[in-house]
Amino acid sequence: MRELLGGKGANVAEMTRVLGEERVPAGFTITTEACVAYMRAERSEPDGMYEEVAEALSRLEHKAGKKLGDPDDPLLVSVRSGARESMPGMMDTVLNLGMNDQSVEGLAKQTDNERFAWDSYRRFVQMFGNVCRGVSGESIERAIKEQKSSAGVEDDTDLSVDDLKALTDTFKELYRDKTDKDFPQEPMEQLRQAIRAVFDSWLGERAIEYRRQNRIPDEWGTAVNVQQMVFGNKGDDSGSGVAFSRNEVTGEPEPSGDFLVNAQGEDVVSGVRTPKDIAELKDVMPEAHAALMDILAKLEGHYEDMQDTEFTVESGQLFMLQTRNAKRPAQAAVRFAVDAVEEDLLSREQAIATIDADRLDALLHPTFDPDADYAVLARGVAASPGAARGEIVFSAQDAVSASEEGRDVILVRPFTEADDVAGFYAAKGVLTSEGGKASHAALVARGMGLPCVSGASELVIDVASGTVSADGTSLAAGDLIAIDGTAGIVTLDEVELVDPEVNEHFETVLGWCDELRRLGVRANADTTEDARKAREFGAEGIGLCRTEHMFSVDDRAQKMRAMIMAESEDERRSTLDELLPLQQGDFEGLFEEMRGLPVTIRLLDPPLHEFLPDGEEVAQKVERARIEQSDDLEELERTLARIHSLAETNPMLGTRGVRLAILAPEVYEMQVRAVLRAAKAVTERSGDAPTVEIMIPLVTYEKELELMRALVERVAEEELDGDGVELRVGTMIELPRACFVADRIAEHADFFSFGTNDLTQTALGFSRDDVEAGFLNRYMEEKIVGRSPFETIDKPGVGWLVRLAAWVGRERKPELKLGICGEHGGDPDSVVFFHIAGLDYVSCSPFRVPIARVAAAQAAVAHGPGELAAAAQAAIEAGQAAQEALGDEDPGANGGSG
Ligand code: PEP
Ligand code: MG
Repeated sequence: MRELLGGKGANVAEMTRVLGEERVPAGFTITTEACVAYMRAERSEPDGMYEEVAEALSRLEHKAGKKLGDPDDPLLVSVRSGARESMPGMMDTVLNLGMNDQSVEGLAKQTDNERFAWDSYRRFVQMFGNVCRGVSGESIERAIKEQKSSAGVEDDTDLSVDDLKALTDTFKELYRDKTDKDFPQEPMEQLRQAIRAVFDSWLGERAIEYRRQNRIPDEWGTAVNVQQMVFGNKGDDSGSGVAFSRNEVTGEPEPSGDFLVNAQGEDVVSGVRTPKDIAELKDVMPEAHAALMDILAKLEGHYEDMQDTEFTVESGQLFMLQTRNAKRPAQAAVRFAVDAVEEDLLSREQAIATIDADRLDALLHPTFDPDADYAVLARGVAASPGAARGEIVFSAQDAVSASEEGRDVILVRPFTEADDVAGFYAAKGVLTSEGGKASHAALVARGMGLPCVSGASELVIDVASGTVSADGTSLAAGDLIAIDGTAGIVTLDEVELVDPEVNEHFETVLGWCDELRRLGVRANADTTEDARKAREFGAEGIGLCRTEHMFSVDDRAQKMRAMIMAESEDERRSTLDELLPLQQGDFEGLFEEMRGLPVTIRLLDPPLHEFLPDGEEVAQKVERARIEQSDDLEELERTLARIHSLAETNPMLGTRGVRLAILAPEVYEMQVRAVLRAAKAVTERSGDAPTVEIMIPLVTYEKELELMRALVERVAEEELDGDGVELRVGTMIELPRACFVADRIAEHADFFSFGTNDLTQTALGFSRDDVEAGFLNRYMEEKIVGRSPFETIDKPGVGWLVRLAAWVGRERKPELKLGICGEHGGDPDSVVFFHIAGLDYVSCSPFRVPIARVAAAQAAVAHGPGELAAAAQAAIEAGQAAQEALGDEDPGANGGSG
């Protein structure tokens, strides 16, 4: 019931069923629906909500045998958020609610523990003021520090009863300064304010930002959980902690986590005190430790997934406060999947479904070069894997402004808090001197796949003076630093970051995925290095080689320019002759790397003026040459005239792709000749012929492809003589008209590859170069679109065009091969869509290849062939209806050759 109760509420209820009432503190949940109603009514609670809260509270009081606010033996509660999907650290929590000036005395008497009672009260006043009324965290920290120094103690736990009383008074003053009111003594009033604060925290900036980054809908709202408090701060046989059923960083099968003796949960997460490893719980509270280990195994079996739990030990008795499926970095996700299958906990299909394909990116991120020699400045906790290098910044704000200037930065803080999250998005990595694996910094960084070293305690980080020092070295903002979150290392040396190799567990998972998936996975690669990387990552060929990239490198750019400047066909042909062997060399490299696999070469696509220098610059040079009466004047004027003659108002919709080849076929002719000669040469050398696929871009009329196919076949006849090179000719489908007349185009094509970048641009009328930095952000804020359509396929619009073209193309030519090579080929959500649409393969950048392999398998598991057939049937019926509506008539002259 997580939609209604939120993850925490649903899991606490479920956990009570699984573990028994004695293990989980009793409570009740205010539903997400109530929060939605509150938001809709512009922050006003739905009618009757507090009456229901009062009823639920009285049931809880009955069960607990205590009453909220009872001056002799008060019930205390925690008030905590809990959304449908967990948003760690993004929303508010109030603990120890129900305390006031009387009940603190009652609690002291009842528990015979005055220190505990006052510690709980000061915590409550502190947290309530901060969360519900915005008393600043800094002023609170300052007050605690001052109290400790005047008492002459180092740790919070050494503060005496009198110190705690004084601190409570200080917090009350801070509250009064902030609100002009006295701290509320009436427990129902406290509860109302806390519930409201949790609702409001759903609408807070950091929660909104987190949802935007994690694509969580704003409309969901949060539930509020009111639960009887159990106390980890009751003395040395009490404590609080977090525990994972397996190592949350590596995925290794031993439970892991942190705890603190004589502490409440927020002490562990805040990173203010450095917690102990969960294994040490065995020494201090052996019974609680044994019970916890048992429970972790039970919960994992029940949820069939790795668990992330919170617990409290009160006077030796273990209570479980929450459990959820653990968010984990890619390496832990992969390790868990493999182990879970080996342990018979999950089937392969189930195990693959537990992996977030998008996050696998982190496994493919750089690490320190294992052979590099570097001096370790400090060691800390390996909190989130991956390595990063950048300039030191000490605040989220500095991180944001540096990243806007394009500088790489590492966010360095003693510990982080919710307000620092904007800095996480801007930084390449995070480094803290305090806190463990469950600290805020670690949790948030892991969730984002951002490298993080936490608790590097040798570092003295002084944010106020903007310095960090260790081992006699003092550093300031702007100094370079490198961190390795996989090993927990900090260094000042310029360590080489190396691209990772696919690890053994990942290989196993990928092997399973390859068995399960139906979609092929190829790579977009233009260079030998790309092709090599792609093959290493498991690409089954190249789905797109953008040949224009080969013309941008130095020696070619010059020749390319000469070719464009040519005024006659003869002149153009002679420069093309010079380019041919260079192109041939490029293709040979690709074919060598991709031996035995298909390689799709796309002929020249962009408008020609992209190869010419900037018009303004040349105009200025012309001016200067005129004044100086330079010899270059004539040449410069010629260039300028050519630039002007090639200039177009909308070049992306202008003379590019196949249109260019209709005007100057000799360019494509050269390219085809180079491709075929390269294929022949590689076949002769290695005996292993590549499958060559020549692809024509930007086709919209079938006649365009017919002419180009004839050109390719003519050159093939001249160049090939039964030497085993298999040649296919196909086209990009990247314009709406091409989708509508895909049956006609299919007549001349062996394959289609959907160019969903241009198809999105032209179907939506959105400039692919501008809108993401332009109005699209506002569109996302206004929820007109969820994610950028250039990142994930617009299923109802562009996706429909893909399905239509796939259907009509295949109807005319059942053996037609269908692929996609736009950016969407590496987006897991889009990959699922392409699977359902019945495509044969996706092609994406080399680093996305493993991700696409996993996503394709997940698609096959979630949407078996049955669903595929149904989707295809629906497409066929829609297509038939469309055709009936149009009749058989030729649409006329605009329909091309008909
Ligand atoms: C596309 O348009 O989707 C495509 C793959 O080609 P390019 O990005 O080179 O235009
Ligand atoms: Mg394109």
